[in-house]
Amino acid sequence: MKQGYRIAVVYARYSSDNQRDASIDAQLRAIHDYANKNNILIIREYIDRAKSGTTDQRPEFLEMINDSKEKEFEVVLVHKLDRFSRDRYDSAIYKKKLSNQGVKVLSVLEPMLDGSPESIMLESIVEGYSQYYSANLKREVEKGMKENALKCLHNGGQAPLGYGVDPETKKYYIIDEEANIVRRIFDMYINNKGYSEIINSLNSLGAKTKKGQSFGKNSIYGILKNEKYKGVYIFNRSAPKDANNKRNHHKSKDDSEIIKIEGGMPVIIDAITFDQAQELLKKNKHRAGSYLAKKPYLLSGIVECALCGHAMTGSTATGGRNKSSYSYYMCTKKMNKKKCKNKNVRKEYLEEFVLQMILDNLLVEDNVDELIENIKTYQQKKHADSDLEIESLTALLNDNKVKINNIVDSISQGISSPALLKKLNELENETSSLENKLRSETQENIKSKVDRKDLLSAINQFRTNIFKSSENELKTIMRNFVEKVKIYIDHVEVVLKLDHILCVIGGGGGSRTRVR
Ligand SMILES: [Zn+2]
Repeated sequence: MKQGYRIAVVYARYSSDNQRDASIDAQLRAIHDYANKNNILIIREYIDRAKSGTTDQRPEFLEMINDSKEKEFEVVLVHKLDRFSRDRYDSAIYKKKLSNQGVKVLSVLEPMLDGSPESIMLESIVEGYSQYYSANLKREVEKGMKENALKCLHNGGQAPLGYGVDPETKKYYIIDEEANIVRRIFDMYINNKGYSEIINSLNSLGAKTKKGQSFGKNSIYGILKNEKYKGVYIFNRSAPKDANNKRNHHKSKDDSEIIKIEGGMPVIIDAITFDQAQELLKKNKHRAGSYLAKKPYLLSGIVECALCGHAMTGSTATGGRNKSSYSYYMCTKKMNKKKCKNKNVRKEYLEEFVLQMILDNLLVEDNVDELIENIKTYQQKKHADSDLEIESLTALLNDNKVKINNIVDSISQGISSPALLKKLNELENETSSLENKLRSETQENIKSKVDRKDLLSAINQFRTNIFKSSENELKTIMRNFVEKVKIYIDHVEVVLKLDHILCVIGGGGGSRTRVR
């Protein structure tokens, strides 16, 4: 190795969304030139091609950060600082990580970063600009979409059932065949037909959702709630993605961010019918709550006070104007007259919320692919266990048969004793019990293979029947799907689990015990 050289790696990125980017080759050429002039020895190049500026989409960048722990280089060379990161916060975090390993970031086009006050100021200006650029780009895109919205034009994504979009003008038009399905749904609902009846009728017609799936309770609900059908154009309904990068469709943005234009869509459902449906939806919403009110505490043992970590337990009190009794969950520490600031939670509200979480998050038609993946992983594990079990049971059985044959042979040759007969008897009993175990294990093994169609119909069945379930069934459902419910002062956290999903929707009830 040459003396007096600083050891460096190169990080280069090319984003396809920015036409003004220097190509990777040009970036690399400039970096190598700079390195030669400044006694820097490059030992490796990390290059992310055609990725956007978001860090999690930069695998080479993350590898570089990770490799810095090996302390094999002391400098990261970039062409421009905005190649390193477009987000100031993100940039600061990664620079700190590198600097913890004694690694510095050097920019070829902004080469003043020597730690002087001027360079620190320059760095922050340069970085501030990158961030401005990024934010500005986003604003431009959003502005364009907003302008589209004000003209009631389609803004990307899938048009709702009943509508098509003219590819040139981006204007909505009605697709009669689909609109008739929407009209049927509204018509049945305002005539007091339940979800399952509506779903059955649609299935018998062979009707499908816009995604080509059969209708479920959620898709019907979504259609009944969609104001577009009565001619209101809506833009910006869904909330931004959450920390897990998942869009939460159940949360809407502030009203100020929603653009609503009456008469901005071709009308499929008249206002009277639409409003009638909304009234009914509101009325039906309370059914679950009042239904749960009469049941015992379904979440006992799963509810925890997030403030002090104690369990929360069911309790009843009388109150209100007409002195009626109501039930709630209360922190046990608080119940024992010790200090905890947590509030009590009304029983039926909490239980309905948790049940709705199960329905919305686990057993949703839209989730079915993810669900199947989870179940497959779970089954693979279970199958491996089960296959092993079958193998060892078979081996034991064969072993027993050999022993039995030997004894039978001895007896047929005239060799017999009470001890031998007793042993034969034991072996035969053991064999028949092993055979039983093997039979049930094999059956379980076959039963736990679920295909998509079965799972879908099981989910729909479960959704339709959930509010008809008995106390014990509801308790089992909660226990099987919910790991823990944590009560904070201003929100509730529900930790769901997937493991037992098969047993519950398979209707088998309870998990199966392993043969020992
Ligand atoms: Zn507490």
